[in-house]
Amino acid sequence: AEAHRDPLTGINNRAAFDEALSREICSFKRHLTSFSLLVIDIDHFKKINDTYGHIVGDTVLRSVAQGIRNTVRRSDEVFRYGGEEFVVLLSNTEIDGAKFIAERIRKEIKKLTFSVNENIKVTASIGVSSTNTIRDVTDTLFHADKALYQAKEEGRDKVVIRP
Ligand code: GH3
Ligand code: MG
Ligand code: MG
Repeated sequence: AEAHRDPLTGINNRAAFDEALSREICSFKRHLTSFSLLVIDIDHFKKINDTYGHIVGDTVLRSVAQGIRNTVRRSDEVFRYGGEEFVVLLSNTEIDGAKFIAERIRKEIKKLTFSVNENIKVTASIGVSSTNTIRDVTDTLFHADKALYQAKEEGRDKVVIRP
């Protein structure tokens, strides 16, 4: 539905993510079906806007969204969480699978080129977390976010795992 779509990129928005995450958490509590979350944040995105303007910035956001979509399976859901931040929800996926997909997304984003006057390139940092116990399943997003923060601290263009 339109209420669940991000107008800029055409992918699912944060409201859609909140619903999907609640659904996965319920499912994990009932059937122990694991899931993983990737939190993806474009590196130094403010600089893209400052250097080339918001129109180009918007184009980069659309391409990155599409790049992520093209890298995951059809059943994996991609959301624009806000600003230049995306979340991927991987159903029935444990930490090793999530790490593999995160690395694939990181490399795909690095490969994208945006032609303006010169060729613009971007990188992204990715935090990864998976379900462990029923007790801490609601912290999965928090852990992925911590991992993202660590990836930024460690120099960006990097995947960090917090199982
Ligand atoms: P870091 O590597 O630490 O993530 O640095 P950063 O510059 O990416 O992070 P910061 O949070 O400082 O800047 C995010 C920028 O994203 C600032 C904001 O103007 C821009 N932004 C957020 N939403 C949009 C949008 O819809 N379009 C455009 N063009 N820019 C946006
Ligand atoms: Mg950023
Ligand atoms: Mg950000």
